[in-house]
Order: sequence, then C-alpha cells, then structure tokens
Amino acid sequence: MPFFAARSAQTTLLCPKCQEKLEIARTCHEVFMRCKKCGQTYPLQDYIGQADEAMERFLENVYCDRI
Ligand SMILES: [Zn+2]
Repeated sequence: MPFFAARSAQTTLLCPKCQEKLEIARTCHEVFMRCKKCGQTYPLQDYIGQADEAMERFLENVYCDRI
C-alpha cells in the first residue's frame, strides 16, 4: 500500500466539549480534527495555529501526496 500515509494521528490538543485529546484525520479531500470520545469534528483551520508536532508531521505527509 504505497499510496496512503497514516490517515489519522493523535494530537495533544483538547476537545472543547469533553477535554479528550483530538485526532487529526483526513479523507481523500480534506483534513480535519476529530474527537474519538464524543465524535465531534472540527475544521483544521481552527487548530492550525496551535499545531503540535504530531499535527505537523501528519500534514507533511498529506502534502507529499498532492500532485
Ligand atoms: Zn470530545
């Protein structure tokens, strides 16, 4: 499976609803933040300013996939 890098990664940012740690996740077309506990998703734009190391690494992989 050479095509996909990881599709989600654990971050240190907290869900504003339940304080659980958010994941960064992607579909084919977009990247977003997701809470595994309450199922809420949040736009990446709201968190990009606070990006931690896990997010930065994840985003590097996402951008590598782009043509
Ligand atoms: Zn939550």
